[in-house]
Amino acid sequence: MSELQKKRNGGFWFREWDRVDVTHLSLSIGKHVLAVCALFVPNWRAFWVAVALSYLTGMGVTLGYHRLLTHRSFKVPKWLEYIIVYCGLQASQGMGEMLSNHFTFFVNSVCHTWGERPWNTRDTSTNNWWVALLSLGEGWHNNHHAFPSSACHGIEWWQLDLTWELIKFLEMVGLAKDVNLPTEAEKETMALCTN
Ligand SMILES: [Zn+2]
Ligand SMILES: [Zn+2]
Repeated sequence: MSELQKKRNGGFWFREWDRVDVTHLSLSIGKHVLAVCALFVPNWRAFWVAVALSYLTGMGVTLGYHRLLTHRSFKVPKWLEYIIVYCGLQASQGMGEMLSNHFTFFVNSVCHTWGERPWNTRDTSTNNWWVALLSLGEGWHNNHHAFPSSACHGIEWWQLDLTWELIKFLEMVGLAKDVNLPTEAEKETMALCTN
């Protein structure tokens, strides 16, 4: 058994955390956890306000901190960048920070343990559809390890990636430019390379 295979079989607890993961650990989101907390809020108005706010702050993190600032996978005008990053900043305030760290730990563990590995990345990353649903697309983690600078994480048409939907919208209205996607050649390399 190769070292890599052992690492994969070892699952989450015995694997080594690479730099990409540590970056993600400090970046990712508590959006759905906030939404769960909102369930304990006694009225529907407050519930929907909480959902909307957590969606906004979640987008601030996935679209702003992660895909825009960390990987520079697309460009937006400075004024819009400030607004997006401001939204993300709200995720690191007070209770949000605790939840978001907790959730990141969860995403990083699940997406290195359970799921599909369509690309031959030299690590343990996986695609996990239900994490992707809860995390605005960040759960297509094997795709992301394969193509870190791609603005789109849900590469296949059936892989729902809400952050990517918003980037596509921004591009359509002319606000997002130089949107990075994996080329066919890059896809071929990642699909063909063997361990
Ligand atoms: Zn990872
Ligand atoms: Zn990343």
